Amino acid sequence: MRLYCTKQGRDIEVAISDHMSLYVCGVTPYDSAHTGHLAMAATYDVIARRLRSLGARVRVVRNITDVDDPLLPRAARLNIPYWDLVEQEVSQWNADIRRLNLTSDVEPRASQHIDHMVSAIEEMSAAGRTYEIEGTIYFRISPDSRFGEVSHFDRARMVETSRERGGDPDRAGKEDPLDFILWQPSRPGEPQYDAPFGRGRPGWHIGCSVMSREHCGMRVDIHGGGADLIFPHHECEAAQDRSMQHSTDVGIWFHSALLDYKGEKMSKSRGNIVLARDLLARYNSMTVRLATLSHYTPRGGGEWQDHYADEAAERLAKWTRAAESQYGPDPRRVEAEFYSRLDNNVELGEAVAVADELVDQTLTYGGSDSRTPRVIRDFMAVLGLERSR
Ligand SMILES: [Zn+2]
Repeated sequence: MRLYCTKQGRDIEVAISDHMSLYVCGVTPYDSAHTGHLAMAATYDVIARRLRSLGARVRVVRNITDVDDPLLPRAARLNIPYWDLVEQEVSQWNADIRRLNLTSDVEPRASQHIDHMVSAIEEMSAAGRTYEIEGTIYFRISPDSRFGEVSHFDRARMVETSRERGGDPDRAGKEDPLDFILWQPSRPGEPQYDAPFGRGRPGWHIGCSVMSREHCGMRVDIHGGGADLIFPHHECEAAQDRSMQHSTDVGIWFHSALLDYKGEKMSKSRGNIVLARDLLARYNSMTVRLATLSHYTPRGGGEWQDHYADEAAERLAKWTRAAESQYGPDPRRVEAEFYSRLDNNVELGEAVAVADELVDQTLTYGGSDSRTPRVIRDFMAVLGLERSR
């Protein structure tokens, strides 16, 4: 399997082994999780399934960022305690990902790793990598000539993107506009924790450095997340990793593109989203899963169309019928083609179209090859469609 590494700027052959790890940055907040998020989550799930089918043992870690900025104002707006909102969100998300066959081995929560975040920040401070402005601890990027090597953004673009995505490049007193928050004082109603450098809460990026180290060890073979996390989140995470001893080394940074809808990137702020919740209320969860995969390519994205769910329901019914038939045409060419699409940057949409070919031939012409139904069942298994709910 080849995956495009954002940092190295080229496709990298994934080395199959019996101790691999895949770390994926999860979705927060869940109430607005949309089909674009599902396509991304399914991408990494399919990668893990495919690697396992090739003999790998893969540990999948999908973190939950439960001490996060977007949740704080919402709890205030809804006038409910912060942790009530978080528990609601997390249990809904867990129920839905189970229905969607989105598996992981561990789902670490940021709130359960505060102590380790505090010690990581202390380690950075001891190494001269932090400074404070009014209780906020910043990570100092100036000693790190490699800052920017994950995203390849130039400085102006980094500053602008940081401003758009919750950073504070314009705050007075910062040594560098790109220095980012490791720890900050909590506002009333926000979660807060004790730390030697003051009571408060962690910044956005420190959690992933700590959780990846704790749950994947020194090596993350594949680090995933949406393309919108390349900067600042993953750039900052990589900088933090470099500043610590015994930190994680990432083999491949593989990002999945955002999905378009009505001509623009699906986003809550633009209002052009199709909520996962709404689809799951109307369709079988395997139909929803197949709908999100059927036209998606992690490298290029794709456009969501409203008829995809109905189309997927029909497709799933056909695939299931073909998988239950006794014979079909010689499956070998299509089988090779299917896996070559999957192994080329998880070209999901193309792989689905190739599978359709074998399914259609089986249902239309039949055949005399008893391997075909098994091959179709394997396609469904690697795409995570094995249970129809
Ligand atoms: Zn992350």
